[in-house]
Amino acid sequence: MAKVPEMFGSMVFNDQKMQERLPKSTYKALKKTIDDGEPLDLSVANVVASAMKDWAIELGCTHYTHWFQPMTGITAEKHDSFISPNGDGQVIMEFSGKELIKGEPDASSFPNGGIRATFEARGYTTWDPTSPAFVRDGSLYIPTAFCSYTGEILDKKTPLLRSMERISNEAVKLLHLLGETDVTRVASTVGPEQEYFLIDRELYEKREDLKLTGRTLFGAKAPKGQELDDHYFGAIKTRVSSYMKELDEELWKLGVLAKTKHNEVAPSQHELAPIFTTANIANDHNELTMELMEKIAEKHGLVCLLHEKPFAGVNGSGKHNNWSLSTNTGENLLSPGKFPEKNFRFLLFLAAVVKAVDEYQDLLRITVASAGNDHRLGANEAPPAIISMYLGDDLGALVESIIEGKEYVSRGKQKMETGVDVLPDFRKDTSDRNRTSPFAFTGNKFEFRALGSSLNIGCPNYMLNTMVADELAQFYDELKDADELEPALKKLIKRVFTEHQRIIFNGDNYAEEWVEEAEKRGLLNLKSLPDAYVHFMDQKNIDLFVRNKICSEEELRARYEIELETYSKQINIEALTMIDMAKKRIIPSVTAYVKELTETALAKKSLSEAIPTSVEEELITSLSNKLVCFSKKTSELEDAVIKAGDCSADALDIATYYRNSVFSVMQELRAVGDSMETETSQKYWPYPTYTELLFGV
Ligand code: ADP
Ligand code: MG
Repeated sequence: MAKVPEMFGSMVFNDQKMQERLPKSTYKALKKTIDDGEPLDLSVANVVASAMKDWAIELGCTHYTHWFQPMTGITAEKHDSFISPNGDGQVIMEFSGKELIKGEPDASSFPNGGIRATFEARGYTTWDPTSPAFVRDGSLYIPTAFCSYTGEILDKKTPLLRSMERISNEAVKLLHLLGETDVTRVASTVGPEQEYFLIDRELYEKREDLKLTGRTLFGAKAPKGQELDDHYFGAIKTRVSSYMKELDEELWKLGVLAKTKHNEVAPSQHELAPIFTTANIANDHNELTMELMEKIAEKHGLVCLLHEKPFAGVNGSGKHNNWSLSTNTGENLLSPGKFPEKNFRFLLFLAAVVKAVDEYQDLLRITVASAGNDHRLGANEAPPAIISMYLGDDLGALVESIIEGKEYVSRGKQKMETGVDVLPDFRKDTSDRNRTSPFAFTGNKFEFRALGSSLNIGCPNYMLNTMVADELAQFYDELKDADELEPALKKLIKRVFTEHQRIIFNGDNYAEEWVEEAEKRGLLNLKSLPDAYVHFMDQKNIDLFVRNKICSEEELRARYEIELETYSKQINIEALTMIDMAKKRIIPSVTAYVKELTETALAKKSLSEAIPTSVEEELITSLSNKLVCFSKKTSELEDAVIKAGDCSADALDIATYYRNSVFSVMQELRAVGDSMETETSQKYWPYPTYTELLFGV
């Protein structure tokens, strides 16, 4: 086996390979495009394409594909071979700059939120040179952005790229004002920690719900769950560890900085965290990670579940989005340094984040909303649906002292009795203890913890970048004409912290009291996706995206429609799956068991009236009653699904209907089903149980 440093990036057309394989002038021109966003000449693209093709063919490639992230939430690819007829019945292998730069997939087969209706069906994919091309399964993959014929964005990547540009420009302007004129670019950096479940493939194949919806729609609790805390960080089982090993190696080959792996809280749950990188690449890499997680599981007789809540009653899966800003001179703008109280740059960027999170709580909640994630938020396993920020004791005290105009006594400088400085730097550890906060400062970055495990991280990051960029722009406008910078800075920082202190909460986010307290503070508590989406098209949100040139009102509305539709469709599929499972498997199975019980009781009675049959009779009565109820609830669910057709055409109305009138019946049906499962002989129950699923690997 190749050593890791040699293996790492071996399937990526990275900087090193560009330097090796491109003429100097081409390399320089390409670097200008990658680093400074300068447009690329077709002649340069031709040379790059040819070098890429030669490299890919050496690795056994026959095809190339533009790889993009449409609004489906998963990636899309369409493979073309390099072959080109040479006229005498032979072929040569060709790849032109034009093919590298532009593709023309049919946009009409991807969600477009009504944008396409008014325009042509054609769509364009355009090469994103900031994310390197790579080789997978005999194809050269080219990361691309996806838009309609007339230029409307149809993907998750374009707004992210725009927002990165935007926040870079605004941060640079502000840094220049602070005297840091050597900074020319600021990158938003992201490290997404990815949770997932691994279960046995044979068991999975037996569950219609898992196959069609990614989660169990029925399933009584196993006698054991996560209460012993014996899985978190526990020893990794051989089968799982060989899976993880292969996953790491495949990710490394693709240049993904897979770093940490461990068992998570729930049985069969695990986590993988990479080392952070720029937001765009982190996004592409996270998509690749999820795809490889699923694919490699197959080889090990396993299935990787990325759903936010595959099993009721045990923790679901999320994704922690660690986010920061770093300059091209290597500075982390959210690093407090030794003396944060004197670090105006840090305080200014911190203030921008505080203001952004407070003013756009709704957007942050919206960006993590999905049918799957609604099961987690607010369920005491994930942050609540209320967005707030955690700053930790040290930083919290500093912000408080700024608001109150008091002197800040740095706790980080406290001495131990030995007289030794406890920690030379601002204490990072004190900021990391609160695991219940949705948006926590963790030393030198913010950790947005409300994301669902299957989410494409493009959306939360473009929203985050945009809202913070917008605040930075306002700060710049306020400070640019100040006679004296320092007093103006102090005034601004104090004012922002004072006006937005309600968003800071260092306590237990799972506590009942927090819900009341948050309400008093006027914070939003948007419990489900339809609740959250009520705010999506609020004027302030439209203004934010339009003002920052991330997308137009029409493009935003398209996104709104697509996500709402997806939500309704997902619940619809879940409801239909439940009905199918209930009618075709569960009712017949329980009926058969009742029949066996009845026959047993009758047989006993025919032998002698003296043989007790009370056990059978109790079970027969109980299960028969439950069957009646179960069957009634199934019909109710069928009706509810049919009535969805009567909703108005408004996507929000439909989604709200699914939440209030379909999802609620699903929960009732499930409750009866699960209670029948606990009374039915395993021989008759038609599906693998939670015990088998969760403890089967
Ligand atoms: P924990 O489980 O305690 O949250 P991990 O070490 O598992 O911590 O994950 C922390 C993540 O944060 C890693 O992906 C790490 O690379 C990332 N990270 C660290 N510094 C930054 C930064 N400046 N910007 C973005 N992400 C960062
Ligand atoms: Mg974390």
